[in-house]
Amino acid sequence: MALIEFEHVFKRYPGSSTAAVDDLNLHIKAGEFLTLLGPSGSGKTTTLMLLAGFEAPSDGTIRLDGAPIESLPPHQRNMGVVFQSYSLFPHMSVAQNVAFPLSVRKVPKAQISEKVMAALAKVHLETFMHRRPNQLSGGQQQRVALARALVFEPRLVLMDEPLSALDKKLREEMQLEIRRLHRELGVTMVFVTHDQSEAMTLADRVAVFNHGRIEQLATPQQLYDSPVNPFVASFLGDNNMVRVSPLGSSASASGALAVSTQAGIALHARARDGLQSHAVNKANATLCVRPEFLHVATHAAALDMPNRIDSTLVDLIHQGDHWRVVVRLGGSGTSDSTDGAQWFAKIRPGALPPDLVVGQNLFLGFRPEDAWVF
Ligand code: ADP
Repeated sequence: MALIEFEHVFKRYPGSSTAAVDDLNLHIKAGEFLTLLGPSGSGKTTTLMLLAGFEAPSDGTIRLDGAPIESLPPHQRNMGVVFQSYSLFPHMSVAQNVAFPLSVRKVPKAQISEKVMAALAKVHLETFMHRRPNQLSGGQQQRVALARALVFEPRLVLMDEPLSALDKKLREEMQLEIRRLHRELGVTMVFVTHDQSEAMTLADRVAVFNHGRIEQLATPQQLYDSPVNPFVASFLGDNNMVRVSPLGSSASASGALAVSTQAGIALHARARDGLQSHAVNKANATLCVRPEFLHVATHAAALDMPNRIDSTLVDLIHQGDHWRVVVRLGGSGTSDSTDGAQWFAKIRPGALPPDLVVGQNLFLGFRPEDAWVF
């Protein structure tokens, strides 16, 4: 049985015509690290607030260990919460802040100091116990908030963009620290972020939100390798896209689906449903291919793969470990007959043809198994 179950949960805020959470079904496993990922306004925070008990669902059921919890107040749910703003009490010391959830729960004094020290040790802040929050850096304050969420040994720790106020380096350090804590403590963690690399770094599973619904719930690798639709494909990692029409209704003998771009370029790619095309939106199909799967050459014959597209070089940017090769689909001199889409390829320095000039023709190649049609 799942630790948490959302069954057909809706949240409609007063005065809003659309549901912030729209028929959400979600099972959270005990001990897992789940991130809720999605653009701003997609319903991630609302979902977390429903779980924590700071908001009530308009409809549907949320269960903890099989028992409905909608009527339980937040402090009876045994969940630690960490918000983006550290929300520490400024007039209290670090130790008093961390002790707060224990005092509220009427834990005996003798146990409190022991538990506070243990929680501070987990986040490496033992020596800061007498300081006030304003004498700490942002990263240290967030560690205190984390210690305060962990100190009463909750079943679940809920975090809402806890690292977004930190600079990139510190954020990455804290991500590793949170991963370590999750591994060591075995506590279930639910973490809201709009940052796909953060979601992928932290999570066992990622729920990708859009318009109050989950588009896909899977491991980071499954999301990256097998997205279910163009939204997920472009939200995790980079993707190049072009409108296409399927030719015929099923996969060829080679296992790939044949499509045509609007300019009539024939291409082959994978379709989601075992390479049959009925899951493909015929009227408005999209082909997606990630930039790391594109090859470039100055002559089509140099590309030993079935998909080849003539393009025009728009820009060439050195990014250290790779070149970002920006192109417009369609050869130079063509305009009306092109698909107009701008794509980019990530090319290893050694694999870039020499002496490229912006405006010249360049052929892009990719394997059918490296592209998806939705
Ligand atoms: P996210 O966390 O993905 O940014 P939210 O859950 O905060 O998304 O918001 C989802 C939708 O609900 C948004 O359209 C937002 O404007 C709306 N919303 C969030 N909180 C409230 C509120 N307290 N009152 C009214 N509308 C809200």
